[in-house]
Amino acid sequence: MRIDIVSIFPEYFAPLDVSLIGKARERGTLDVRLHQLRDWTHDIHRTVDDTPYGGGPGMVMKPDPWGEALDSVLASDEGTPRLIVPTPSGRPFTQEVALRLSEEPWLVFACGRYEGIDSRVMAEYGERLPVDEVSIGDYVLAGGEVAVLVMVEAVGRLLPGVLGNVRSVADDSFAPGAMANLLEGPVYTKPPVWRGREVPEILLSGHHGRIARWRRDEALRRTSANRPELLADLDPDTLDKRDREV
Ligand code: SAM
Repeated sequence: MRIDIVSIFPEYFAPLDVSLIGKARERGTLDVRLHQLRDWTHDIHRTVDDTPYGGGPGMVMKPDPWGEALDSVLASDEGTPRLIVPTPSGRPFTQEVALRLSEEPWLVFACGRYEGIDSRVMAEYGERLPVDEVSIGDYVLAGGEVAVLVMVEAVGRLLPGVLGNVRSVADDSFAPGAMANLLEGPVYTKPPVWRGREVPEILLSGHHGRIARWRRDEALRRTSANRPELLADLDPDTLDKRDREV
């Protein structure tokens, strides 16, 4: 997968050099290209923002550098990418969205700052390619860089060969299938007793069927405790009698 990221702080993306994503880049599974938006300005101050029309506090990112930057990124003949614009006013970024994006060959991320990017930029590129305005949660960050790091990591770990054990994706919270709308329950490793606290006996039993049942019970309990609103969205066809009792 190719990923282009346009930002006034390309140095924010140093974490993409390490761990799973760093290794995926080394192997060539992920081709991440960083671009400095200010390279497409033409004044001595390399200005990317201006005052908002209609008044009010804050500054808005100017359309001109964004237009030149995106035209330049799109100029390569590798097909048509999907443009992702992080914004708190976008549609929620979920595991389902991450999965869908992981099937795309090419993503371009446009990192806003200040009060965001002039809306005509999204309107302009929306006529040429798929554009998604996406929020990573109901809070406001100072810029799109952290949101893009979140999305690149969530998408990148789903690419074939990035995770050592592909099965762990299916067991994750929110994974489509058995874990859709469920949170993963508690996990344990050795030693069996730590500071007097024992690992639940069932996990040491070697009985795979009962362990799977216990894990599902715990997932239902944790979801009910931490995210009760998710339970309403559970597919009734996936629930058995025991699920309903938990
Ligand atoms: N005035 C904007 C609003 O209220 O919707 C907030 C702008 S925010 C200070 C600056 C930039 O941070 C946004 O353009 C976006 O790129 C990024 N950002 C902030 N919160 C975000 C979130 N929850 N999800 C995705 N991006 C976010």
